[in-house]
Order: sequence, then C-alpha cells, then structure tokens
Amino acid sequence: MEILKYTEEHEKYREKLRVFFEKEVTPYADKWEEDHAVPKEVWRKVGQAGLLCPLVPEEYGGIGGDFSHVVVYMEEFAKTKQSGLMLTLHNDIVVPYILAYGTEEVKKKYLPKCVSGECITAVAMTEPAVGSDLSGMETTAVEDGDEIIINGNKTFISNGHVSDLVIVAARNSEIDDPYSGISLYLVEDGTPGFERGEKFDKLGMRSQDTAELFFNNCRIPKENMLGTKGGGFIMLMEKLQQERLCAAIGGVVGSEAIIKELIEFCQKTIVDGKPLSKSQAIRFELVEMATEVKLGRTFMETLIYDHIDGQNVVVETSMLKSWGTDLLNDHVNRALEIMGDYATLEESVLVRGFRDSRITTIFAGTNEIMKQVAAQFMGI
Ligand SMILES: Cc1cc2nc3c(=O)[nH]c(=O)nc-3n(C[C@H](O)[C@H](O)[C@H](O)COP(=O)(O)OP(=O)(O)OC[C@H]3O[C@@H](n4cnc5c(N)ncnc54)[C@H](O)[C@@H]3O)c2cc1C
Repeated sequence: MEILKYTEEHEKYREKLRVFFEKEVTPYADKWEEDHAVPKEVWRKVGQAGLLCPLVPEEYGGIGGDFSHVVVYMEEFAKTKQSGLMLTLHNDIVVPYILAYGTEEVKKKYLPKCVSGECITAVAMTEPAVGSDLSGMETTAVEDGDEIIINGNKTFISNGHVSDLVIVAARNSEIDDPYSGISLYLVEDGTPGFERGEKFDKLGMRSQDTAELFFNNCRIPKENMLGTKGGGFIMLMEKLQQERLCAAIGGVVGSEAIIKELIEFCQKTIVDGKPLSKSQAIRFELVEMATEVKLGRTFMETLIYDHIDGQNVVVETSMLKSWGTDLLNDHVNRALEIMGDYATLEESVLVRGFRDSRITTIFAGTNEIMKQVAAQFMGI
C-alpha cells in the first residue's frame, strides 16, 4: 500500500530532477570527491534549472511545493550517490527559517536569490565547546543603535565556504537565561568582521565544505534578526525537526539504493558456478536487509504523511533519525562484506557510502540525543 500519494505534477518534478542530476551531478561525483570540493557554479546551474528551494512560494520565485516535493527530491538526489553538494541543507533546512521567521522585507530580499542559486545558505549553531547542548552557547550579539555586534566562533558549519548568507545563533548578553537568551541573525558574506577558517579534511562527505566561522565585532543591521529576540532556541527546536526528518529520509532512501545495487551484484556475480544470489546464506542476508528497508519505508512514509498533516511527530522523527541512519551504516557494512575485495577500492561507490554514512549518526543531533528526546517526549 502506498501511503504517500504523488500527483502528476510531483512526477513531472521527479523526471526533471532525474534528468538534471544524471547530466549535471552524477558524472562529476568522483571528481568532486577527489578534489574535496564542489564548484560553486553547480549551485547556479541547479538554480537556473529551477531546482532549488521547492518549498518557496511562487511570489518569491519558487514553485510553492509541499514536503512531498522534498521527498521526491531526496529520492532522486540519493541516486547521485554523493553528498558533497548540500542541496537539502539549503533547500529544506536553512531557507525554511527565512520563510518562517523573516520579515516581508527580508523574504523579498533573500528568497528569490536563494531560489536562483545566487544566495547559498548555511546555519551556524555549533561552537568549539558547544555541540548537542546549545544552552552553553558563547557567541554574543550586542545591540548598538541600529546595529547588532556579533562576536564568537562557530565550527563544523556545512556550506561553510560556499555560503553567501549564514544564519548565526548568538546569545543576547542582557537576557540571563541559557535558553531564552538566544537569537538568530542573518550575516552576509563580505560583512566586515566575518571570516572563514580552513575547510575541514573529514572522514566522509569529503567534497562538502565543513568549516569554522569567525565573528570579530561583526556589525549587521538590526533588521537581520529572524523572528523575536530571545526566540532563537524555540525556532531552532522547531526547525530541527525538519532537519532530522531529512536525515532520517536520507538513511532510508540510502539503504534502498544499497539493497538494489547489492541484489544486482549478487545476481550477476558467479561463485562456485552459480550466481551468488543462489547461495542460501546470501539470500537470507538479502531478504533480511530488504525486509528492514521495507519496514523503514513504511515508517518513513507514515511519518512524512503525519508531518505534512501538521501532527506532532517529535518522537517518531527522533526514532527514525536514529534508526534510519544506523540502518544505513549497517547496510553499507553488510554490502561491503558481500561484495568483497573490489568494493573496497576507491572507485567503488560503496567506499564513499561507507565514509559518508558514518557522519549521519552524528550530525542533525546525534543518535544518542535522538533517543534522549524520544524518551523525554514519551514520558519515560
Ligand atoms: C559533517 C558535519 C556537518 C555539520 N554541519 C553543521 C552545521 O551546518 N551547523 C551546525 O551548527 N553544526 C553542524 N555540525 C555539528 C553537529 O551538529 C554536532 O556535531 C552535533 O550537534 C553533536 O555535537 P558534538 O559533536 O560536539 O558532540 P557532543 O555534544 O560534544 O557529544 C559528544 C558525545 O556525547 C553524547 N552526548 C552528548 N550529550 C548527551 C546526552 N545528554 N545523553 C547521551 N549522550 C550524550 C553525544 O551523542 C556524543 O556521542 C556538523 C557536524 C558534522 C560532523
């Protein structure tokens, strides 16, 4: 039974994405991995093709899509088998902050450029001494007339180099409360006092630019605050749900791609005179993995359905972010074992999958934190 129902328009969008990714992304994945970088022009190309920010309404240049467009997007993007081009981060995680909390002026100023690819975004919460527990945030924002002065360091920021606009979480020193003293600010590239550190050389997602950001007496106009002063923590908690849902979807659709590839491999690889898929041990392994993927798909579609319906899905999102990203790691590992020696070569797509999947249990809220959140909301 299909839980999510796609319209003809969703299917046309899927086809447009498929054609674009096959031509402009998949063929370059190995090169970007080797270079540890995705050229910024690629973002412009995606924007010019009308394939950025599906959730942005038409009045700001978007297509006014719904979360089903995001799911279609992520399913097609998973087929590119690379994760350096952080389109989901921009489309479905950062830009929604501007949509939800920006003033009309801010929306008119930035959203059309976010859609065209002229303005790539990032969100900066993490600091050298602050990860899961954002209440310890040390970056400060102090009002000075019509301006706000930001001071502090952020680290592990995705799109850290390529971004033109960063949402920075900072503490208002005059509010003496760890949670209600945080606000969100828009800082443009080129603002004096805003600098970027070296790109990190990471285990996985190598072509994605994760970097440190530095703010030294960085002055921005007061209008660049998102939402209400001191409302940053609540805004982050609200929007982190969609970020975690996207990470969960990434885990399930990634596992689907692996089992498909693995079955094809086992059917065409001959061992002891017969296809590997005819060996009982391998068949059991394949059926077990396929079962887990089907369970994941059913849970994921129900969760997406409820999310679109506006229901509170904090518990389920936390569960699936944790379970789905663990599943992806487990499946990459099992696929490597079955595919053997050639799968360990750099030219094998599984090598990239092995490295990239490892990071998914850590970002967007670690899987331990996901279990803590679920337990808390379950009243355990
Ligand atoms: C590739 C990558 C990209 C990233 N992109 C961004 C980005 O764009 N923007 C951004 O702001 N951040 C980003 N991050 C940072 C990411 O959000 C943090 O790594 C994450 O929040 C966890 O923080 P931490 O690594 O400092 O771990 P810590 O919070 O220091 O935790 C260390 C360990 O303790 C565990 N732990 C902590 N608290 C608890 C608890 N209460 N109960 C049980 N266990 C606990 C954690 O699960 C973890 O295993 C990125 C990280 C990576 C690796």
